[in-house]
Formats: sequence, C-alpha cells, structure tokens
Amino acid sequence: MTKERIIKANPKYIQQFQKGFPLLNKENVTTSIENIKEGEVLKLVDNNNGFIAKGYSGIQNKGIGWLLSWKEQEAIDKDFIFKKLQAAINQRLHFFYSEDTTAFRVFNGEGDGFGGITIDYFDGYYLVQWYSKGAYAFKEEVMQGLRELTDYKGIYQKKRFAQEGKYVEEDDFVEGTRPSFPLLVKENGVQFAIYLNDGAMVGVFLDQREVRKRIRDSYSEGKRVLNTFSYTGAFSVFAALGGALETTSVDLANRSLSKTIEQFSINGIDYEAQNIIVEDVFKYFKYAVKKELSFDLVILDPPSFARSKKHTFSAAKDYKDLLKEAITITEKKGTIVASTNCSTFNMKKFKSFIETAFKETNEKYKILEEYTLPEDFKTLSQYKQSDYLKVAFIQKL
Ligand code: SAH
Repeated sequence: MTKERIIKANPKYIQQFQKGFPLLNKENVTTSIENIKEGEVLKLVDNNNGFIAKGYSGIQNKGIGWLLSWKEQEAIDKDFIFKKLQAAINQRLHFFYSEDTTAFRVFNGEGDGFGGITIDYFDGYYLVQWYSKGAYAFKEEVMQGLRELTDYKGIYQKKRFAQEGKYVEEDDFVEGTRPSFPLLVKENGVQFAIYLNDGAMVGVFLDQREVRKRIRDSYSEGKRVLNTFSYTGAFSVFAALGGALETTSVDLANRSLSKTIEQFSINGIDYEAQNIIVEDVFKYFKYAVKKELSFDLVILDPPSFARSKKHTFSAAKDYKDLLKEAITITEKKGTIVASTNCSTFNMKKFKSFIETAFKETNEKYKILEEYTLPEDFKTLSQYKQSDYLKVAFIQKL
C-alpha cells in the first residue's frame, strides 16, 4: 500500500469534512502543505489522530487537494479510479445511446468522486482535463480505466495547471487516432464544430445544453435575438434554428467571426442573413442605444472575469450594470436570458442583482425559468459552490 501522508483538519471544519465536504484548502487544515508533493495520498485526521477521510494533494485555484474516500480501508489506486469511472459511465448510458446528442460530460470531478479531473465525450473522442499537477499524477490509472471501460476512438487532454490554473499550451493528443478537425458532434440534433487540439477552449460549453434547447424550442420563433459574449455563436445558432427573424452575435475576440460563420454553415444556415459583430459588448450597447435598436430576446453570458482595453468586467461586481444595459434595449414583453458561471455568488445573490437592475431602470419583470448545471455535470450537495451555473429567463413586463 502506498504511504499516506497525515494532515490535520482544522477543528472548526471537522463536521463538514465528516459529512462529505470534498475540498481541502489552506483554511480548513492546520498542517502546512509546503513539503507535500503533488499527487501524494493524504490521510485527514482530527486532533486525536482519528481518521476522517483520504484524498490527494493538488494545488488548484480553489484549494490544495481533494478528499476522495471516507473509508479508512479503501486504497486510492487503479481499482478505486476504475470504480469511479465505471459508476460515472453507467449513470450516463442514456447519453451514450443518444443519436441526437453526441457530446456530453462523462466525469465531473468531485461530483463523480474525484475532484480535479473532468472528462468530456465528443462522438467517440474523450477529452480529459487535469486541474492540478496532483490530479495529473493519476494519469496512467485514468487512461487504463478509459482503455478498459470504453471503446474510444481517441483521447485528448488539457492540462489546466499552468500559472493561476491556466492551460498548458502543447499537443493535447494522448492516444488512439486523431480525427480531422473540426470534429462534428451533435447536441439535440444541432451540429457543433469541435477542435480538441486548438488551445484551451474546444468550441462549445457543454453545460448550457438545456438552455440552448429551451431557447430554440420556446423563445426564438419570430424574434429578434441579441447574443452577447457569443464566442462561437452557439446560442445564435439554436435561436436561428428555432425560427428567429434575425440574430446578432457580439464578441470581442477576432476568432469569434470565423467560428460563428462555421457554426451557422455546418447547420445549413446562411450566415450572411445574420449579424456577426466583433466588438466590445459594452461599446455595442452604446451603439444600440444611439441607433435605437431593440430586441425581443437578449442573451447575456459573460465570463466571470474579463479585461478588455477599456473595461474590466467582474460578474460579482458588474452583472447588475450589464443587466441594466440589456434592459434598456429589450422590448416590453421581451426576454433576457441572464447567465453566469461565477462560483463566488449563488442564485439568491444573482436574483438580487436582477432585482436591483430592474428597480434602478424603473422597469418591472418576472422570472420565467431558472437553470443550473445539467445532470451530466454532476455535483455534490455537500459542496454547493460546485454548482456554479446560474441562468434566469427574465421577462420584461
Ligand atoms: N456564450 C458563449 C460562451 C461565452 S465565453 C457560448 O455559449 O458559447 C466568453 C466570451 O466572452 C469569450 O468568447 C470572450 O471573447 C468574450 N468576451 C469577453 N469580454 C468581452 C467583452 N467585453 N465584449 C465582448 N466579448 C467579450
């Protein structure tokens, strides 16, 4: 059995740990982690050396390691990882069998019993993401698990453990075959162009599947749609397929233009009939107000934090103001889809931003629907912050 390094829990957090809270951070342990190697197996104990749980060390943005098992006899080894992978796959068989949807999350970190590792599925290709060097130390076990449990066409990886959790730029191919890119996958019948070996982002954020479907099926017919922070235009494509009169996609990144054209084109939509604008969203709002533009559906999906030439946007500080801008250019009876992946505030707080934004613009509203992470992005009830996604469909009355 591998040696387990003993670390002591901060007494204030013992109960939380015993109930299954999975994240180790500097505040909730009293042992210094300075001499602990990444990937070492840790045994968390109380003041009397009583066993609480086992885990591993891995420095991430949000902690210094993850707890994995609350059974003293259980080893953290290949079998352990194999069992976690198998359980995760079994819970997602309906996704594997689906003909309409060929892209989804297979393994969601701590939600599936192993924090620091996620695995996504793209039509036979697996993308493993490692969120710390410690997590990466389990690479061989994870790869063996995938070899035995799946008939993958190929495996790619992203190491998200450069400075501040940034992506390590390198060839992301691990084994199997390399597809020609873009790899075309489907989500509820809609195609996505996926690039597994082209930087940190692959072309789609899988956690918005339900929101995209809802927009297509119930909110787009005959509507003028503005999609801000649009990236590859995924929401715009779903809106267009749902019968939108016209879509306008706005993103600052140059790459968004060609990516959005591609996304429309592979779905048989004439991109020239849509507006694709490479610009700062905040500048676009000013332009829209000046030109008296208005929309029936406005989608807001900003990053949690972004710095452009003129603006620093932080969702926690600035979401309310972003909403105010959106409210101004939304028609009465129109809908704002407000989304955030910021994990530092919860839905209640998010709703308070909505409330204040409408109050300050003297407008009335009604929240029609709310979404959080879909089922393949499994989360733990003991660790609520991991359910980071918050989406509200808001009608301006
Ligand atoms: N809504 C997208 C994902 C958004 S990712 C989707 O569903 O796929 C965040 C995007 O915001 C990135 O593409 C980034 O280029 C863009 N972005 C960040 N700051 C911006 C700004 N000030 N104006 C416009 N786009 C911005």
